[in-house]
Amino acid sequence: MWPAPFYPTVYGLYGKPTVVNNVETLSNIPHILSHGVEWFRSFGTKTCPGMMLFSLSGDVNHPGVYELPLGIPLRKLIYDHGGGIKNGRALKAVYPGGPSQAFLVPRDIDVPMDFDSLKAVGSGLGSAGVIVLDDTNCMVEQTMKFCNFFEDESCGQCPPCKMGTHYLHQILEKIEAGHGKPEDLQTLQQLSGFVKGRGDCTVITGAAVAVECSLCHFPDEFESHIKEHRCTMKVAS
Ligand code: SF4
Repeated sequence: MWPAPFYPTVYGLYGKPTVVNNVETLSNIPHILSHGVEWFRSFGTKTCPGMMLFSLSGDVNHPGVYELPLGIPLRKLIYDHGGGIKNGRALKAVYPGGPSQAFLVPRDIDVPMDFDSLKAVGSGLGSAGVIVLDDTNCMVEQTMKFCNFFEDESCGQCPPCKMGTHYLHQILEKIEAGHGKPEDLQTLQQLSGFVKGRGDCTVITGAAVAVECSLCHFPDEFESHIKEHRCTMKVAS
């Protein structure tokens, strides 16, 4: 019987070690062969050379896909290329590598957007799907939506992921609807901590990190939903 196909470098096509890279990575090869290694290394940082396709979305004036050198400061990406935050609102949070990576907050605005620098601040670049949120966003609602996505994406073969994504989503839905109880916050913490890293891929860890990060940076939003029995952000915006 073939093992789960999640480590193709060990056991991939026809049961042999298989190299799997995305098109973006492979598309660098002809340029490196044509122009040389030094040319390629002249872009990006010392440890993360080259260019990256940053897919900038969310509450920015000019969302789009920007090919820029790795290590570009987040501030430049959002304000110079993305045209700043929509409607003159303030920045609230940025997911630098999609919802699976810990989000950044305004104090991280000058972090270089490369793999090493983001790892150093406890996040990650992933495939550079940068999602920007302005200050009108409710982090309970956002986290609930992302957990809904992770629940949909779960293939169900790892019980911590199958059940974990479902329960995280369910609890967040309850809190967002104004039916949460104070003890739900502890359950969210415990459940996230328990399921993190317990899947054959990163889906469940992504869900757990999304929840932990929101609870860590915006505990007041969770508490106000529970205390007021409603989403207070919707009134504020
Ligand atoms: S972690 Fe989730 S999505 Fe990944 S293999 Fe396990 S059940 Fe499937």
